[in-house]
Amino acid sequence: MDRIIRCITSDGSLMAAAIDSSTIVDTAQRIHGTSAVGTAALGRLLTAASVMGAMLKVNGATVTLRINGGGPLGTVTAIADSRGYCRGYVEHPQVELPLKPNGKLDVSGAVGTDGRLVVIRDMGSGEPYTGQIEIVSGEIAEDITSYYAISEQIPTVCALGVLVDKEDHRVLLAGGLLLQVLPGADDAAISRLEQNVEKLEPVTTMLAKGMSIEEICRTALAGFEMEILDEYKIGYACNCSRERVVRAISALPKNEILTLADEKTGYAEAKCQYCGKTYRFTSEELQEIAAQASRD
Ligand SMILES: [Zn+2]
Repeated sequence: MDRIIRCITSDGSLMAAAIDSSTIVDTAQRIHGTSAVGTAALGRLLTAASVMGAMLKVNGATVTLRINGGGPLGTVTAIADSRGYCRGYVEHPQVELPLKPNGKLDVSGAVGTDGRLVVIRDMGSGEPYTGQIEIVSGEIAEDITSYYAISEQIPTVCALGVLVDKEDHRVLLAGGLLLQVLPGADDAAISRLEQNVEKLEPVTTMLAKGMSIEEICRTALAGFEMEILDEYKIGYACNCSRERVVRAISALPKNEILTLADEKTGYAEAKCQYCGKTYRFTSEELQEIAAQASRD
């Protein structure tokens, strides 16, 4: 089971959140049939969304991350709630690209660098807050860092990693680390954090060594007294339902609803883009939905 932990230094100057998202990314790969590079891009975005969702602290709040840099993957989307549960979608999941010269998956090449990262925070009431930045690298972690610096003026270090098997592209490990400098942090704390960050290994390397997410936070905050704010289980979760699909169909013009059913099979199918679940409606059911919609 995947977990997330949030820690804070005892002087309140630095926050660290670490996540093991291995199962989430593995689930996303099985649902979407993503290629290795598609898995890495979607997995990194899901990991970031989960951490950012868990930081919303308001029940029912959600965060949506959307990135499109004009690369062959198209738009990559991840949505998470305030418990860190997340779901995601990639427009062209099967795109394959050659590895970069350093042997790593070419996430920036697949995402592209000409476009924006959009972050939508919906607190469940009032207008959702939307922030967007020009893509910095398309590697996603740097783009999240830039989002926090530009859009929220919070100095942030973000590391995201997805390790896939070179042969069968199975997800081996995935995780992330988010470090933030809080208001009131002094120069000594910041420079100590910078020294720690320079020595940090990639998150998936630390997970592969068997380090817990708490130990990852302790390593990132070495030299500081640290307290755990919270730690909980997270996962890949979709909130789609037949009811929601009916509501979406009801919003269509009546004559369009009546032509949705396939003439040969006699029914219409709607597939959830986040979890792949299929909802089937017979032409009789569609007539009923159309009739209900015109009554409302
Ligand atoms: Zn769904």
